[in-house]
Amino acid sequence: MKRCKVCRKKPRVERRVNAEGVLFCSNDCYETYGKKVGHPMDDLNHPYIDDYEMIRLDYIRWANDLEDQLYGEWVFGAPRKVDLIENINELLEEYIDYIGLEGSDGLFSQEIYDYTQQFEAMIATIRTWEPNSKELTRRRQIKEERLANEE
Ligand SMILES: [Zn+2]
Repeated sequence: MKRCKVCRKKPRVERRVNAEGVLFCSNDCYETYGKKVGHPMDDLNHPYIDDYEMIRLDYIRWANDLEDQLYGEWVFGAPRKVDLIENINELLEEYIDYIGLEGSDGLFSQEIYDYTQQFEAMIATIRTWEPNSKELTRRRQIKEERLANEE
């Protein structure tokens, strides 16, 4: 796996690329590199840059929150799995053109397409997901303790 150009860590959920395909683990490393070397012009005015940044942020948010969201139905009664899947499908509708392109129109189109595939994988995960009983107990206890503290 390729590593971050700046810190050499393996990029994870917050990975990003610039228009030249240089890889970063996070916005922080991207900005550090930008200050030293400068950002490529296309990072500012590429026609796909806004969509790239938007789907990247959506992906980070979903990837980081997914487990909490999934336990939500079991601990709080919401959101339900079907609602999570519907929300993702609504989000993907915004990127229908990129899904059609299958990444064939340059780096950012490829990145955006990859995110749409990650979201599809997330939907598959949601469909088959089952809570871990220990973790569920832990989360229910936290909820009850919070409720008790509020009284
Ligand atoms: Zn880094």
